[in-house]
Amino acid sequence: MFWAGRDNLAEVQSLGVQCGQLGVPGDLELTDEFAAGWKSALEQAQFPVVTVFAAYNGENYADIPTVQRTVGFIPRDTRREREQRTYQVIDFAAAIGVGSFACHIGFVPEDTTHPDYIDVREMVRRVADHAAKNKQTFALETGQEPAHVLQHFLKDVDRANVGINFDPANMVLYGTGDPIEALTVLGPQVVSVHVKDGDWPNRNQPGALGTERPLGQGAVGISRFVAKLKEIGFRGPLNIEREAENQQERIADIRKAVAYLKSLA
Ligand code: MG
Repeated sequence: MFWAGRDNLAEVQSLGVQCGQLGVPGDLELTDEFAAGWKSALEQAQFPVVTVFAAYNGENYADIPTVQRTVGFIPRDTRREREQRTYQVIDFAAAIGVGSFACHIGFVPEDTTHPDYIDVREMVRRVADHAAKNKQTFALETGQEPAHVLQHFLKDVDRANVGINFDPANMVLYGTGDPIEALTVLGPQVVSVHVKDGDWPNRNQPGALGTERPLGQGAVGISRFVAKLKEIGFRGPLNIEREAENQQERIADIRKAVAYLKSLA
């Protein structure tokens, strides 16, 4: 996954990847001219973008309580503005010819009678219906809730174009559960995947997130993950996600990740 406004398309291609997901930061202005620029750049580079991924202004991944307070559709104070922004990002994706939209919707409460659960479910339906008008899918990023909660939520949302962007490292980073078991449960709903690695949170620090790691060096078991994807019949791209603080280190890690994944093929 690469970010508009941060990553350079030529550099991304030089890493040996054949396609990717485009991340859109919350503060990026999405004008028609901007979309036209991206459309022609992608066409010239002959680089397919499989998903446009939205981040939102004010999101903060410092630790689990902060994620609960700031990420996705769950925070009440920003819910309406993020809904409008989501429609803009979906339409930007359509304008550049991308058939899938994804984001973190945040921590969905397990209690299905909770007002936030109900309001966010309705919002996911409206977002899905907006994407459906563009013939797009809407993929919810995994990790912040256990597989069975997400599975139940998807069933309750009840929209044919809603699925999952499965990120195995998030299941580890949030301490949610074994990612390979979760993939077995959620497999039929998986639209796209992130290939990312990480270590479990420190048990002595309540609320702490685990640590993201270069691919193959964390607790996910990437070879197991790739084998499981094959086993369940997933044939989509393996989108490498790496968010190291240092951009040079990040690019170097992605380059190594490409080689590592090729070695598993
Ligand atoms: Mg991810």
